[in-house]
Amino acid sequence: MNPVNDEKIPVWIADYVLMGYGTGAIMAVPAHDQRDFEFAKKFYLPIKVVVQPVDQPIDAATMTESYPHDGVMVHSDALDGIPAGKGAGQSVEAAIQWLENHQKGKGTANYRLRDWLISRQRYWGCPIPVVHCPECGIVPVPDAELPVQLPEDVEFSGRGASPLAKLSNWIDVPCPTCGTPAQRETDTMDTFICSSWYFLRYPDAGNEQQVFDPAKTNDWMPVDQYVGGIEHAILHLLYSRFFTKVLRDRGLLNFDEPFKRLLTQGMVQAAAYKNSNTGKYYAPSQLDLTDPKDPTTGEPLEVVFEKMSKSKYNGIDPEQVLSKYGADTARMFILFKAPPEKDLEWDDADVEGQFRFLNRVWRLVTEFADRGAEPPASSDSLTKAEKDLRYAIHYAIQQITEDLEGEYQFNTAVSELMKLSNALTDAPCKTSPIYAEGIATLVKLLAPFAPHLTEELWHQLGHTQSVHQATWCQADPSALVVDEIALVIQIMGKTRGTIQVPAQADKSTLEELARESELAQKYIAGKEIKKVIVVPGKLVNFVVE
Ligand SMILES: [Zn+2]
Repeated sequence: MNPVNDEKIPVWIADYVLMGYGTGAIMAVPAHDQRDFEFAKKFYLPIKVVVQPVDQPIDAATMTESYPHDGVMVHSDALDGIPAGKGAGQSVEAAIQWLENHQKGKGTANYRLRDWLISRQRYWGCPIPVVHCPECGIVPVPDAELPVQLPEDVEFSGRGASPLAKLSNWIDVPCPTCGTPAQRETDTMDTFICSSWYFLRYPDAGNEQQVFDPAKTNDWMPVDQYVGGIEHAILHLLYSRFFTKVLRDRGLLNFDEPFKRLLTQGMVQAAAYKNSNTGKYYAPSQLDLTDPKDPTTGEPLEVVFEKMSKSKYNGIDPEQVLSKYGADTARMFILFKAPPEKDLEWDDADVEGQFRFLNRVWRLVTEFADRGAEPPASSDSLTKAEKDLRYAIHYAIQQITEDLEGEYQFNTAVSELMKLSNALTDAPCKTSPIYAEGIATLVKLLAPFAPHLTEELWHQLGHTQSVHQATWCQADPSALVVDEIALVIQIMGKTRGTIQVPAQADKSTLEELARESELAQKYIAGKEIKKVIVVPGKLVNFVVE
């Protein structure tokens, strides 16, 4: 459409345009939005494909529905071939870059934050600190009288206005300006107001004069890691960012984002007993769990894993778990059962499994501590068993440190702890200083996961300081250099076993060792070898006739 000539511009009217979305200028992408596609088909409007799967052209003339999926840009000049999307190196970024390079526009962040009515007619919330005076109008409560405290002699009837509106001894106050009998505001603020900035006060919680001392809050904040449920991830985070930006503009903060990193943790789910015909749930205590049936109709019940809820009778009482197994076991179970961002299913057998693991660690460490013998002085040349154990120790340090610092893969960290515990249990060199190093390392690495048990074990090992103040372990790269590795032998891509080979062997040596091995000979003897695939450090695969 060229606005400088006087051609008429056709106007199409549709009832599916969302009035609350955007500014009023409507874009249409018939090839990639099903509503636009149907509209374009009905009114014979042109359809232009601009995204298609790699190497799979889409013909606009023959397409029968829109293509709203991933792909690469086409028919888009400078953007052709670029992956469609908002991420780094994708089409949205490239389009903004193109516009900026050609001085036709620039990128900007657009927040979907709407006007916000913050007053609520309820008790729980921060009172809005104003007084209504018949002479002066709305008067702020003077700073010296802040904060306005909620009254405690309140009655909740569940009917009518806010319970605060009935408390005349709280409401009736003289006007702070002229002294005329006046009334407090009885609306309280939306709790989102408080949750938008409370963390800014953590570094300076005792401050009676200011909301916070900017020097202290700027020193400690922003928050390094935010952990919250997904239900917090949208409104609360957007409001917090807005508050932070306003306080920055007011010169109270020197950062403009409140949280550096967000982890939305999964929910704990548990087994619930449901009659799928009636939708009713039953408490496990009233059922025979080996064959759960509806107590009234006798129909078989379905076992479903759902978010814990009173109405589904599937809550787990933490008190019971703590008194039976202790907090360390409960924590280990939760960390081990699933990565933190995933939902996890409560499973008594797995709780028991963690309890047994911690008991094994307890025995391993206390047996070592009870022996009381000073380990012999370290010798320069380690035995094979000592080298293997040292490798296991430093491998565990490396993996667990990465799991804790990187993507918070606590579940894989716990499984590394189990491997280290097994390596110590199986180690033949129990009087070696390497074994002593392994025991101390196991306790330290386990400390963030089972803080109580490890604190006790640390003291049993003769330490007087807390394990939680001990220096974190450092992986020694020299311990991770291995002399031998297990090389996987495959025949036609199928794994048949492993053989031990020198870790530094080159491709042709690996092929030779594999070819001559008893393991491979069982499958390749007398056959024609058509091809050998060697992946150093990993495998040799023989392709035979
Ligand atoms: Zn007044």
